Amino acid sequence: MSINFAACSFISSASKPQHFVTDTGKEMAFAGRSNAGKSSVINCLTRQKQLARTSKTPGRTQLINFFQIPQADEIRLVDLPGYGFAKVNMATKMQWHKMIDHYLRHRLSLQGLILIMDCRHPLQPFDLQMLAWAKQASYKLHVLLNKSDKLSRSQASATLAKVRKYEDMDQENISIQLFSAKDRTGLQELEAQLHMWFTTSSAS
Ligand code: GDP
Repeated sequence: MSINFAACSFISSASKPQHFVTDTGKEMAFAGRSNAGKSSVINCLTRQKQLARTSKTPGRTQLINFFQIPQADEIRLVDLPGYGFAKVNMATKMQWHKMIDHYLRHRLSLQGLILIMDCRHPLQPFDLQMLAWAKQASYKLHVLLNKSDKLSRSQASATLAKVRKYEDMDQENISIQLFSAKDRTGLQELEAQLHMWFTTSSAS
């Protein structure tokens, strides 16, 4: 099966679990600290300028966005709300935690998670939480060290080696690569990873 990521289209947004898309088929979720480049990565992967909005409207960024890729099997990409929005109040942050927690714990169609980090500031507290969770739950997680175009080749390799050494990274279910949404570095590797997950993971 070849996956046409460019044919991806928006299905719906959810602000609460009752509004999630029906939990059948397979989906891959994208998570990351706000500004790490999550929207840019999704747009790069799907060859669309506006699919995941890069606008910083706080209301919009608190939603889980579901996208579908037309295939014989039901497959989706899911844009989880960016973490670390300075402008939102405590009540909104609590709601964010509740919704993400619910999604990660209960979503049967979730096959794997792409965790996007800014390669200049990797392993922030949110990233460590996600890694610990993937380790503990044996969830498939693939780290993108995004914005690698901002580093020299040797700096990028050193960052990759450093993050690889982090204790929670040393798991069969956790992998990592350098990426740049700006110049598309690592796009083939990301596509291969998603393709493998979509084609080998079990559907619900
Ligand atoms: P999000 O908040 O994680 O969705 O981040 P965005 O996709 O909105 O990106 C945040 C900022 O980083 C924007 O100004 C992007 O243009 C920029 N950006 C994202 N990815 C890259 C990248 O790979 N390289 C560079 N140089 N800038 C990037």
